Amino acid sequence: MAYAYDDQNIFAKILRGEIPNDTVLETEHTLAFRDIAPKAPDHVLVIPKGTYVTLDHFCAEASDAEIVDFNRAVAQVCKMIGAEPGHGGEGFRAISNAGENGVQEVPHFHMHILAGRPLGPMLL
Ligand code: 5GP
Repeated sequence: MAYAYDDQNIFAKILRGEIPNDTVLETEHTLAFRDIAPKAPDHVLVIPKGTYVTLDHFCAEASDAEIVDFNRAVAQVCKMIGAEPGHGGEGFRAISNAGENGVQEVPHFHMHILAGRPLGPMLL
């Protein structure tokens, strides 16, 4: 199945530098920045620089280098915000909404990292 990527989505504009963002981390293949409407004291969005619509699209078509880079960036963000439970942090939630049933607002694959307060059983 072909994935249709809309290059006018907000995260594509952020990647092109057309819209400002509060960057937390940038690597070769990945950008992490703070959510404009945070649902927790720390709410960071991690996105690949490549044009992938959803997590399944990313896993199907991204290179191993992009996938490794992305996952390392997710872990690095958790470290930077001090949320790593294995290193004295109080934990985090990583979640990715996909498609209509997942209520995905921005059609560029992204992982939400939420931390800094008890998040309850479900948030997004
Ligand atoms: P989704 O529902 O697609 O998983 O989440 C999209 C997220 O992007 C939302 O949490 C929303 O607040 C965030 N968002 C939407 N527009 C912008 C923007 O222009 N800048 C930033 N930093 N976040 C945005």
